[in-house]
Amino acid sequence: MRVVVPTGCWLVKERRGLESRMKNILLVHTGGTLGMNGRRPNALKPGSFFRTVRERVPELTKLAKLEFEVFSNIDSCEMQPELWTRLARRLAERLPHFDGVVVTHGTDTLAETASALSFMLPGLTKPVVLTGAQRPLGEIRSDARLNLIDAVTSAIHGPKEVTVCFDSHLFRGNRVRKVSIAEYDAFDSPNHPVLGVLGVEAKFSDGLRGQGRFKLAAQLDSRVFLLRVFPGLDPEIPLSILPKVHGLVVEAYGAGNFPSSKALGRSLTPLFSQAEALGVPVLVVSQAHRNGVDLSQYESGNAARDHGAISGGDMTVSAAVVKLMHGLANHPGDALRKYLERSVAGERI
Ligand code: ASP
Repeated sequence: MRVVVPTGCWLVKERRGLESRMKNILLVHTGGTLGMNGRRPNALKPGSFFRTVRERVPELTKLAKLEFEVFSNIDSCEMQPELWTRLARRLAERLPHFDGVVVTHGTDTLAETASALSFMLPGLTKPVVLTGAQRPLGEIRSDARLNLIDAVTSAIHGPKEVTVCFDSHLFRGNRVRKVSIAEYDAFDSPNHPVLGVLGVEAKFSDGLRGQGRFKLAAQLDSRVFLLRVFPGLDPEIPLSILPKVHGLVVEAYGAGNFPSSKALGRSLTPLFSQAEALGVPVLVVSQAHRNGVDLSQYESGNAARDHGAISGGDMTVSAAVVKLMHGLANHPGDALRKYLERSVAGERI
């Protein structure tokens, strides 16, 4: 379910005519289905993107002065923290020369890249809009055309933060989840209202405030592990991983629960006590998509909290993993807990 933009939003229509000049928008291509060519059911191959954009969406140039840049041309399953760091640096370098940026990206790891950019580029004063598509731009019935037009519209008029524009909606970047493989409404942000609706009229709400001066914080420590709790999980397996990692995200049940009974030998409580002993921070998020973790609610959550586990609140799993990487590199030691427990880019309550 998508929530309607809150009141206090602005209509693009009302702002038209106030613009004295066409905005300069940078379009950075990283890859993904949107820019691929090739026929299904064959494997999609990255193709020549910008030629297709000019052919298929010529009206983009009526919306803004566009400059194109190829950052990479990869399926987003190949996206890695090293590339996020390079992308954030490149955007920080180019942003002063533009009014906004659109980043085209595959849908598979779009949530992670959007989260990473939101943490690495705090205090943005211009929109950075990520978009992608379920069908390549060159195909009939592709969703790429409208997604590109809407993303450029959002980069001109939308909130000044990292967002994801998809299927006529604008989402906070670090709040999205990919929810569909084959439908055009591929993204959702279950714990946060949409920031824009691009229907007959384009409406946007205010973005983030109070992040301070813009800065680049592109460092990441990717030595983290994500553990999803499930019935039957042998605690020995995650225990053997602990010495190898700098941080652990536990995707627990519901409010932050996990088996803690000794009866069948599968209590995960020793994982939390061992992590505490080794000084490995543990961030707990929920397998449920709506609402957030509350470690005070049940006994197992209490045990995790007593061993120093940190509640990830209502963060998505993607945002939690990336925030832990970012926190380990930029806010190490005692500062890490505070960094993870507060909202730094609107990623949690
Ligand atoms: N595998 C593709 C990617 O993430 C899927 C897509 O773009 O929709 O790059």
